[in-house]
Amino acid sequence: MDDTVYENYKRAGKIAADARDYGVTLLKPGARFLDVATEIEIRIKENGAGLAFPVNIALNTLAAHFSPRHDDQSTFKKGDVVKLDVGTHINGYIADTAITVELETHVYDTMIRASSEALEKAISVLNVEIPLSEVGRTIENTITAHGYKPINNLMGHGLDRYELHSGLSVPNVGALGGKTKPKDGDVVAIEPFATDGAGHVTSGQGSNIYLCSDSLKAKFIRDSKTKLLFEKIITNYRTLPFAQRWCHDLFPNGGDIALKKLSFLGLTKHYPQLVEAKGGMVTQKEHTVIVKEDGCEVIT
Ligand code: MN
Ligand code: MN
Repeated sequence: MDDTVYENYKRAGKIAADARDYGVTLLKPGARFLDVATEIEIRIKENGAGLAFPVNIALNTLAAHFSPRHDDQSTFKKGDVVKLDVGTHINGYIADTAITVELETHVYDTMIRASSEALEKAISVLNVEIPLSEVGRTIENTITAHGYKPINNLMGHGLDRYELHSGLSVPNVGALGGKTKPKDGDVVAIEPFATDGAGHVTSGQGSNIYLCSDSLKAKFIRDSKTKLLFEKIITNYRTLPFAQRWCHDLFPNGGDIALKKLSFLGLTKHYPQLVEAKGGMVTQKEHTVIVKEDGCEVIT
C-alpha cells in the first residue's frame, strides 16, 4: 500500500474511532436517536472526514441497517442494547467501526463480551497465511463458548476506495469463507455478531438508508428537482450509502418526493433493516484493519 493511501486510512480510522467513542457518551435513556446520529455526523465532518455511510443505530433485536428519518422522535430507553455503527472516509478511503452498549442495565454483558472477544481473537489470527474460513471458525468458536450463536448471514467485508463492500467477505462462521486468504495491503472490516436467537437475520422495513444504484438511467429523470437531487447525491456521496435525512436537508420541501421518484426509476436502492429471525437479542463489534504479512493493523 502506498504511503499516501496508508495515511488516508489512518486518518479515517482515527476519526471513526473518535466518533464511535464520542457517540457512546451520548447514548442515554431519553436521548433522541436523531440527535445522537446528527451530533456524531457533525463531529466527523468537523474533524475533516467524509461520511462513508449514515450513522447506524440498531436496537435490541435489530442487528444492523437503521438510521433515523429527519422527523424521528424516538428516544433510547433504559435496558436498550444499542449497536452504534459509524463510517468515515478520507478521499474515499474508508474506516468502518461499531460497538454495542447496554443502557444502564447489565443483562447482556456476556453477549456483549462474546462479540467483543470474537473480534479480538479474529484480529489476533488474521494474516496473509490464514484462510478466511479459519477466521470465521475463530469467531464462531469464541461466540459459542459464551453460550451464544454467531449470525451466519452477516459478514465482515473488504473495503476499497469509495466502496463499502468489495472483494473479500469475512464470515462469522467456519462453514463459510473457504480457502481464500487475504493479501498484504487488503483493508477489511471484521464484524462478529452474537445472538440468543436463530443465528441469522431477515429483511425488515426500510432503513432510511439508500444507495445510488444506476446512474445510467439518470436520463429518464423528468422533473428538475429530482434531477438536482440526483446530481447532488452523485456529487456528495458518490457510490456510498446516504440517508433520507440528508436528502431532506438538501431540499426541506420536496426532498422526500424526489427521493421516491429516484427509487421508482430504479436509480436508488433502499436498504432493508436486518432483523434477527427469531427475535433474539443481538450484539456486534467491528474494527477496520489493514492486513500485513505477519498480522494486521487495527486502524479504528
Ligand atoms: Mn459497520
Ligand atoms: Mn461493516
